[in-house]
Amino acid sequence: MTEIDPERDPAQRCPCGSGDTYAACCRRFHAGAPAPTAEALMRSRYSANALMSEDPGFFGGYLHRSWAPETRPALAVLSRPGARWTRLAILGVSGGGPFETHGTVEFVASYEDPSAGQTRGRGRHHELSRFRRESGQWFYIDGDVT
Ligand SMILES: [Zn+2]
Repeated sequence: MTEIDPERDPAQRCPCGSGDTYAACCRRFHAGAPAPTAEALMRSRYSANALMSEDPGFFGGYLHRSWAPETRPALAVLSRPGARWTRLAILGVSGGGPFETHGTVEFVASYEDPSAGQTRGRGRHHELSRFRRESGQWFYIDGDVT
């Protein structure tokens, strides 16, 4: 298992916006611990996107292996390369608990994309994501983006 960048301060705020430190939140999932719920997996995938520029290989690898094998792209692709992810809001969760096998999470992820030009690239990614649990691991399957 790849180690997290030792330069990264584990006491800093987790990008997923839980209000917790990175060390107490998404770090353990990035380091290989199974996320207990679909929402935890979703948050950790958002955090991986937000941290991507720090270590594309590591965080891209996390996105890749938390994606269901039948739907994941050959290479982990960012939905908006170059964007800075600024905020995550969970709008709703259905299923996805520790003893369930399927779940959905609806969220809005806000971003700024400096390459997007005159609008200063502010935008929102609204998605209803589907997840399933298999062998104790939650996987992202796909989602409806609206
Ligand atoms: Zn987190």
